[in-house]
Amino acid sequence: MNCLRCNTPNEEGAKFCKNCGMDMTYTPSNESTNSKSSDTFLIIFISVAFISAIAQFAIQKLVDNWYESPTKYIQASLWLLQNLSFILIPLAIRNKTLKIVGFIITAIMVIYWVYTNVEFMTS
Ligand SMILES: [Zn+2]
Repeated sequence: MNCLRCNTPNEEGAKFCKNCGMDMTYTPSNESTNSKSSDTFLIIFISVAFISAIAQFAIQKLVDNWYESPTKYIQASLWLLQNLSFILIPLAIRNKTLKIVGFIITAIMVIYWVYTNVEFMTS
């Protein structure tokens, strides 16, 4: 049975690590619960972003004059929902490096979407 902190081998059933004093009875159950729930959020956010993107695409293909009201406002709402989910995706990522990469990608995408949509909405 190795210590979770310093990886020193300890006797089976030892209460504390002989090297660093780490509590050997500690089990990272809270961590795995958090990781599971954030994984669920991650799946939800990705699904919502994906579905709203597909819905927008479908409306553009299926509805003539989709760029006129009221479809224009449905599109705008879907677009907001999609962006919101994309912003939340990096928040649900637990790995620090992936989280930072996610934030950078999201920031670039959001800036791009805002730019193209503001242009579209004001034209
Ligand atoms: Zn230890």
